[in-house]
Parts: sequence; C-alpha cells; structure tokens
Amino acid sequence: YLTGPLGSLFEAVGVIRQGSGAVHRINEALSWPPEREGEVVPPQEPSRESRTLLEFQDVRFAYEPGRPVLHDVSFEVPRHGHVAIIGPSGAGKSTVFALIERFYDPDGGRILFDGHDVRRLDRGRYRSLIGLVEQDCPMLYGTLRDNLAYAVPDADPEDLDGVIALSGLSDLVERLPEGLDTPVGERGAALSGGERQRVAIARALLAKPRLLLLDEPASHLDADSEMALRRTLLRLSRECALIVIAHRLTTVRAASSIVVLREGRVTATGTHEHLMGHDAYYRGLVSEWLGHQRARGMSWT
Ligand code: ATP
Repeated sequence: YLTGPLGSLFEAVGVIRQGSGAVHRINEALSWPPEREGEVVPPQEPSRESRTLLEFQDVRFAYEPGRPVLHDVSFEVPRHGHVAIIGPSGAGKSTVFALIERFYDPDGGRILFDGHDVRRLDRGRYRSLIGLVEQDCPMLYGTLRDNLAYAVPDADPEDLDGVIALSGLSDLVERLPEGLDTPVGERGAALSGGERQRVAIARALLAKPRLLLLDEPASHLDADSEMALRRTLLRLSRECALIVIAHRLTTVRAASSIVVLREGRVTATGTHEHLMGHDAYYRGLVSEWLGHQRARGMSWT
C-alpha cells in the first residue's frame, strides 16, 4: 500500500525542488539592473551630411566562442539604397539582420547607423526606425485593417492609404467584399502568400522606418507575386533604405548593390552587371536560376 504513494511523494518533492530553483532564477533575473541605453538618439529625419545610412565595418561575430559565423564583413547601405544579400543556407544572412536589430553586438568591427556606432544609440529609438518583414509574415485573426494597423493603431488614414498603394495592396483592397474590413481568416488563410507578404510590408511601412529589412520567402511565389514584389521593392527604395535577404534573382536584379555572403565572408559586392562580369559564383547562380525559370515557363525580366 505504501510503495505507490511514497513513489509519488518523492516525485513531487523533485518537481517542487526544480520549481523553486526556477523561481529563484526568475527572481535573480528580475533583480538585474536595467540595460544601459545608449546616449545618442537617432533622428527620424536623415542627417544631410551622410549619404550612407548603414555601414558594416569589418564585423566579426560568433554565437559561441571559437565558432565564428561572420568574418570581417563590410558593406554599405546608401540612404535610399536597395541592398540584396544572397548566399547559401548557413552563410550568415539572418545573423546580419540579428546584428542590425541589435539582438547581438559584434565581437569585432563596427556597425554604423547615420554615422553613429549602433552601440551608442538609444536602443528603443533605434529599433523604432527599423522595420522587419519576416519570411512567414505572421497574421492576426481579424480584418485586413486590424492586420495593417496593429503596430500603429492611431495611424493617419492618409498614411494607411499611402502604404497600401506603396506595398501594392490597392487591388486586393478593392477586390475584397468589405475592403479593409474583410476578415482575413485564421492566420490570414484567406490571403495568398504574396498578399500576406504585401500586408506585412505595408504594416512595417506604417511605422515610417528609415531602414526596412525584408527576409524574402524562400518558397515559390507565383509569377505575378514575384513580379509584384519586384515592383514593390523598386517603389520602396524611394521611401527608405532596404536590405533584402534575396532568394530569387527577379528581385536581386532590382537591387542597387548585391552582397554575396558565403561561409560568413563577403566574397563579392556590386550590381548585377558587375557581378556577371566578375564573379563566377554569381554567374553560376544566375544560370541555375535561368534554367529553373525556364522550367517554370517564366522569364526573369
Ligand atoms: P538560411 O538561409 O538557412 O536562413 P543564413 O545564411 O541566414 O541561413 P544564419 O541563420 O545566419 O545563416 O546562420 C549562420 C550560422 O550560424 C549557421 O551555421 C547557424 O547554424 C549558426 N547559428 C544561427 N543562429 C544561431 C544561434 N542562435 N546559436 C548558435 N548558432 C547559430
């Protein structure tokens, strides 16, 4: 009779011990002093002097000691530039975004925003100037309007119209039975992948970022969505600087500069035309892509 209850009792004691350890660690974390904020507040408007908005200068970074992920990475993003980052899986593309967003700081080198080392910037203000469009474009259960405005609920209706036009959503809004007040379904199920991406772009633009980071979906977009994305990127670069982790050459060709990242190193930088003339790896990617497009019955211009 005793074995069962005693076993349960010992098990419960173990669980309580683990729980109290976790509570102790939570209390410890809560008592940490707040993170010191940088003293420089980046302005909403760009400074006249600097033509470069963001610059990586010999940035080195490792998640774990002894396993470097980025080696002396350098590139520049002009104030209205569109930079595409391309490279194989694991090259460090998302890590570049994580460093720009300051989820981590470099182990060596510097990242400058408007001429200031980002470590000296007020983190909250700096982050508010950066928009992020993720690959999977998460959607809320609600209307299209809810999904556009949740980050900026008091958005000016004119601004809302502006970002809808910029992100290429006007046709969708016209087509939907209740326009902006049409429910988008569970996780945006009523929208296509391309449409969800446009909603995510419009949502990010509503916060008036000075730099937009866009992680292009790696999976296929249909031909229309692919061309629409390219046109959208061309329009966006007039509004803010853009860095796109690019998976399709349709959009890469629209970039003012392409950064080729391989095994954490920038192996080439330049326009499409420059890389076609100077970088064998890039030429290889292009010919692979052209074959792939032909198989889909698409051209890439
Ligand atoms: P993909 O195209 O597949 O998304 P990527 O070019 O974006 O790849 P990263 O995600 O930046 O590459 O990863 C670069 C390297 O860093 C990889 O070796 C990855 O395993 C490693 N890595 C990424 N995130 C972490 C992390 N949080 N902790 C440890 N290592 C990580």
